[in-house]
Amino acid sequence: MMPIGILGGTFDPVHHGHLRLALECLEQAALSQVRLIPLHTPPHRRGARASGKQRLRMLELATHGSDKLVIDDCELARGGTSYTIDTLKLQRERLGGTPVCLIMGMDAFQTIHSWREWQSILDYAHILVADRPGEATHVEHGDVASIYRQAATRDRQDLQRAPAGKIFRIGMPLLEISATRIRTIIGEGRDPHFLLPSAVIQFILKEKLYLTQS
Ligand code: ATP
Repeated sequence: MMPIGILGGTFDPVHHGHLRLALECLEQAALSQVRLIPLHTPPHRRGARASGKQRLRMLELATHGSDKLVIDDCELARGGTSYTIDTLKLQRERLGGTPVCLIMGMDAFQTIHSWREWQSILDYAHILVADRPGEATHVEHGDVASIYRQAATRDRQDLQRAPAGKIFRIGMPLLEISATRIRTIIGEGRDPHFLLPSAVIQFILKEKLYLTQS
C-alpha cells in the first residue's frame, strides 16, 4: 500500500523549501499524497506571526491545483500546544494500517529527542529526513543516532512493507530558504520573490503581514 506523507510545520509563511521537500518525498518515497499540517502552538518556540486562518489560506494558495498536496487542519482544530505524537495517533486512527511517513528537514530531526514521547514516533510512522543547508548531514545526538542506525533503510519498499518504523533519507537539492529569512526580507522592505509562490506574496502584502521585525 502506498504510504501517506505528513509534513507538519509553522508555515509562517509556507515557501519553496517546504513545497520542494513535499514533492521530492512524493517521488522518492512513492507516497500517494502529502498532508501539510500547520501547527497551532509550537512547544519549543514562539508562536506564529500569522494567524492559523492566514497560514491555512497561504497553504491553499501555494498548493492550488495539486491533488497530491493536501492541507489538513487537524492541529489548528485541536488547539493548544501541538505535539506531533498526538497528530500521529489521530492519523493512525483515521488511516488504519496504511503506512504513514513523517517528513522533516535535518534541523528538525537533529532535535527530535526533545519532542514529546519521541521514542514512540516510529511506532506510528516512518520518518523521511531531508538535508537542510547549515545542518550536519550525520545525526549528532547519541540517542537519536543509535535509533537512526537501527531503523535506517535505503530500500523504499520497506516503507510499504510495514505501517511504521523505518527512517529513509531523501536526497534534495539544498535550498537555503527559511520562513525566518522571508519574514526578515519583508520586514526590511525587500523583495521576497522566487523564495515562495507569488500568490502567497500577494496575500502577505494584502494582509500586511511580517512588516515589522519581531
Ligand atoms: P522558521 O524559519 O520560522 O523556523 P522554517 O522555514 O524552518 O521556519 P517550518 O514551518 O518550521 O519552516 O518547517 C517545517 C518543516 O519543513 C521542518 O521539518 C523543516 O525542517 C522543513 N523545512 C523547511 N524549510 C526547509 C528547506 N529549505 N529544506 C529542507 N527542509 C525544510
